[in-house]
Parts: sequence; C-alpha cells; structure tokens
Amino acid sequence: MIINKVSEELYSKAVGYIPGGVNSPVRAFRSVGLCPHFIKSGQGSHIVDEDGNDFIDYVCSWGPLILGHANPEVLDAISRTMRDGTSFGAPTRREIDMAELISELVPSIEMVRLVSSGTEATMSAIRLARGYTGREKIVKFSGCYHGHSDGLLAKAGSGAATFSIPDSLGAPKSLVEQTIVLPYNDLEGVRECFQSMPGQIAAIIVEPIAGNMGVVKPLAGFLEGLRDICSSNGSLLIFDEVISGFRVALGGAQELYGVIPDLTCLGKIIGGGLPVGAFGGPRKIMEFLAPVGGVYQAGTLSGNPLAVSAGLATLRILKRDNPYPSLEEKSSRLTRGLAEILSRKSLKNTVNRLGSLFSVFFDMESVTNYEEAIKADKSRFNTFFAKMLDQGIYLAPSAFEAWFVSTAHSDQDIDYTLNCAERSL
Ligand SMILES: *Cc1c(COP(=O)(O)O)cnc(C)c1O
Repeated sequence: MIINKVSEELYSKAVGYIPGGVNSPVRAFRSVGLCPHFIKSGQGSHIVDEDGNDFIDYVCSWGPLILGHANPEVLDAISRTMRDGTSFGAPTRREIDMAELISELVPSIEMVRLVSSGTEATMSAIRLARGYTGREKIVKFSGCYHGHSDGLLAKAGSGAATFSIPDSLGAPKSLVEQTIVLPYNDLEGVRECFQSMPGQIAAIIVEPIAGNMGVVKPLAGFLEGLRDICSSNGSLLIFDEVISGFRVALGGAQELYGVIPDLTCLGKIIGGGLPVGAFGGPRKIMEFLAPVGGVYQAGTLSGNPLAVSAGLATLRILKRDNPYPSLEEKSSRLTRGLAEILSRKSLKNTVNRLGSLFSVFFDMESVTNYEEAIKADKSRFNTFFAKMLDQGIYLAPSAFEAWFVSTAHSDQDIDYTLNCAERSL
C-alpha cells in the first residue's frame, strides 16, 4: 500500500474549509471510496503528491495537458508574458493572434470570442443561438456534459452518474424545462422531437465525440443526421468540442467526421493548463454578440494575457509538431494491450477509443449511449482503480471518465502501465 499520510491530513483540514474538501466534486475520490491525493508537482507524464508518491498521470488535468505537465515552451510563454503585467481589461495584440490561429485550425470558426472556462463557452453559445433564432428550446443528449450552467445540468454525464444525482438542486425547473434530453446516437428520437415542436428549437448541443460518460463515439450518420435536421428546421448545430477540440485532430471532431457545425465551443487544450474557453462560428451569427449585436456576453478576465499565452503556445506547438500520429500509435498500443489482458483473463470488456482519448468499460459488449454506459461494472472499476493507484498509475476516479494520453507519455510509461494492469486484473 502506498503511504498517503500527508494527503489524509490535508484532506481532513480541507473538508473544514472547502465543501467536500475540493473545488470540483469528482476530485474528492468519493465514487472510488478513497482519500484524494494532494498533488505537489507535475513534470511531463508524471505527477508527485504531497507524500512524495510518483504517478504516471492519465488524467492530465482532465484533458488540457496534451503536452504533459510543465511543458518548457508553455512555461516560457507564461513567464515572458507575466513580466509585462497580468491583466488589463483592455484588448491586447495576443488575443488577435489567438483568434486568427483558432480560425485557421478550425475553419468553421470565422470569428471567436474568448472566455475563461468551458462552462462559459457553452452557456454563451446557447444564449447566442437563442438570440439568433428567436427560439428558446434546446436539445441535448443524456450523458453529454456541457459544463454546470443551470439549463445544461439535465442528465449531464459522469458527475451525475457517479453521484446518482439526476439533476442539480437549485436549477430552476422553468429553465431546465427548456432543455430536451434525448438518447445519444438515436437520430429517430431527434426527428420525432423536431416534428413534435416545429419552430421552437433554437439549437442542438452535442459532444461530437462524447467524453463524459466514458468515451462514446458517434455512430455512422449520427452527426450528419443532426446537421440535416438542424439545417432543415432553422435550428443551430452546436458542437461542444471542449474535450475533442485539438485532442482528436487539430481541427477537432468536425475535421475528423467532416460535419460542419454552426457554433463550436472550445476549452481545456486551448488554455494549455490555464483557464480559457472559446466559442465561435460564422460572422453572421457571431455579430449578434454585444457590442455589435443584442446578445450580451462579457468577462473581466476574458482573453487574459497569461491564459492566452499558455493557450497560444500550446496550439502553436500542436500545429508545428503534428503529434497526432504518434499519440494515435501510443494510445492504440496501450488500449490493444489492455484489451488483450482483459480477454486473456476472460473478462468481457469494451474499449472505446479515438486517438489519445479512450475509456474501458468492464463487462460490456458495446457502449453507444449513456443508458448502456451506466451498466458497466463499477465495482470492478473501483478495484482496478485502487490497484493501479497503488502501483503508481493515476486514473480518473470514476468508471465514466476518459483516459488522456499526452505527448509526454513515453513507451516505457505505456509498458509499465500494461504491466500494472496485468497485475491489477
Ligand atoms: C469540461 C467540459 C466542459 C466544461 O468546461 P469547464 O472548463 O470545466 O467549465 C464543457 N463541455 C465539455 C464537453 C467538457 O468536457
């Protein structure tokens, strides 16, 4: 057993001052019934906790750190910027560079607005879609998470699945009623919904590759079908690419599948480990935003110099180095190895993977939506999680989260992880 003494002391102090001891619920390790490790530092693919335990990290801050921890070029960009001041609340040159680069890499984005989190990006994109269409209802899919704004907390994936909270207290019913929740990958359901509410639906918001109920890929034709339905009904299609953006390809899921949304939400990787989100699309829609148009949206720290520097450095490295083939190679070796161990031990499983984003569902033949995902064997996952942690492998503490592989993960990291999995199963 690894020693967790300092973390236990810190946790017992933290719960006195911070609800549950954490600033975001899943960090508390409740679903796996363990004490969270307090992290002191990270370098490349590794993190070290306050007790000095060293882990290979497959959480990577829940996705942002595609270049691993403390990437020297990203740190340089931040430290050079910070000497000139940390925030002005006035436009800066760097924000144009960032907007230009995002629209180059994600061609459906002609104009973009920067915010400080994925939650803000989706919340604002929905307001914009409502303002643009003059309609109020939105469609989302069960198991998709789009941040924690009131109207989007219906059937919102891992948090709810982990804690069995169907919705959140405090989210006004009148607002949540404007959100229609449908099963992922079920086009017929979407068609019926649009037929029953003609002219009322402002937008469909979807994770084009779902990453918050474990990884679930769109079935052939699903995204194309959503595009057609939105186009023929005057509704907007919003891709929430907060996870998939710059993760599965430079141009995100929309590049991979060739389906062009009206609006795209970004976050995680575009902040390079600092708080950044963004939403963008064609000029004719984006200019509905204030100060040009009538949809209000703002932020004291939006486009913050440090955050934009970290994000810009990250995107420039991704564009320069094209790490996607090597991420694919490493991740596929890891998942093939895991699947091989599981089948050798006659443990039924499904591994859903897209590039460096994947998850393992224990005791499942296939997983194509939330209703199936939650049938995966949670107690086997919890045992697996604890045994992996004991051997120095840090996974997301929930059966409904993804593993993230970064450019910093080495072949030795992968080999060691597979050895640990062999012993754990
Ligand atoms: C993480 C996430 C969000 C929310 O982003 P925050 O920065 O945590 O607010 C929104 N959508 C998706 C798909 C996410 O994975």
